[in-house]
Amino acid sequence: MAEKAAQHGARILTERSVLSFEKIGDKISRVKTTQGDFEAEQILLAAGAWSTPIAKELDVELLMQPAKGYSITLKNPSALPSRYLFLGKSKVAVTPMGAHLRYAGTLELAGYDLSINQRRLSALRKAGETYLHKIDGEAEPEIWAGLRSVSPDGLPYIGRSARVRNLVIATGHAMLGVGMGPFTGQLAADVLQGENPSFDLIPFNPERFVR
Ligand SMILES: Cc1cc2nc3c(=O)[nH]c(=O)nc-3n(C[C@H](O)[C@H](O)[C@H](O)COP(=O)(O)OP(=O)(O)OC[C@H]3O[C@@H](n4cnc5c(N)ncnc54)[C@H](O)[C@@H]3O)c2cc1C
Repeated sequence: MAEKAAQHGARILTERSVLSFEKIGDKISRVKTTQGDFEAEQILLAAGAWSTPIAKELDVELLMQPAKGYSITLKNPSALPSRYLFLGKSKVAVTPMGAHLRYAGTLELAGYDLSINQRRLSALRKAGETYLHKIDGEAEPEIWAGLRSVSPDGLPYIGRSARVRNLVIATGHAMLGVGMGPFTGQLAADVLQGENPSFDLIPFNPERFVR
């Protein structure tokens, strides 16, 4: 995706964090990062769960909770389901990924702490084994935890800020951000270009909870 974006003229700058902003009136005039400052006519805030503290720098209140999820990928497992499964009772997703098998799930409200809770990890593995019997991987499984960005009503935040005129927000996709990303990308591009989005963005108003 990064290569495709570059082919379309995007310049991707990695390894730098947004620290703060400078504003003139109700517009951002400068974005300050760990590697220099940037100026832009329009700014898209799409930093997942971290969008809330970044928006706070701009006095924009983005109500969200970081919701930690865990992923275990078994390498070359002893058995591999032929399709994706969702274990409804335990809410665990089981995904064959090429030769590997991934279990993903759980929702832990622990702020921005990304440490691994072994109890949750074994519950995830056990849920898979209850339905699929014991499946062993060839080597040590790959384990990671990530933060989902969860809004109070479960809907994402997509649209222009009313408080900061050159700020567009695209976040809050909770469990479905990978799947919804392309649609949100298109909608955010429409808003940035001043075009009518292909559907009504009112339910996704980023400031819908601000009084
Ligand atoms: C275990 C697990 C399994 C999941 N499985 C699925 C699935 O099967 N299907 C699905 O659709 N979704 C799934 N999700 C949800 C999905 O991962 C998220 O909804 C999605 O990643 C949100 O995308 P995003 O780009 O908004 O945020 P993120 O992917 O969180 O990206 C935010 C980015 O902003 C960067 N950032 C943060 N702060 C700063 C800063 N100050 N300056 C610069 N950059 C910053 C971060 O480094 C990060 O790269 C899963 C989530 C988890 C945790």
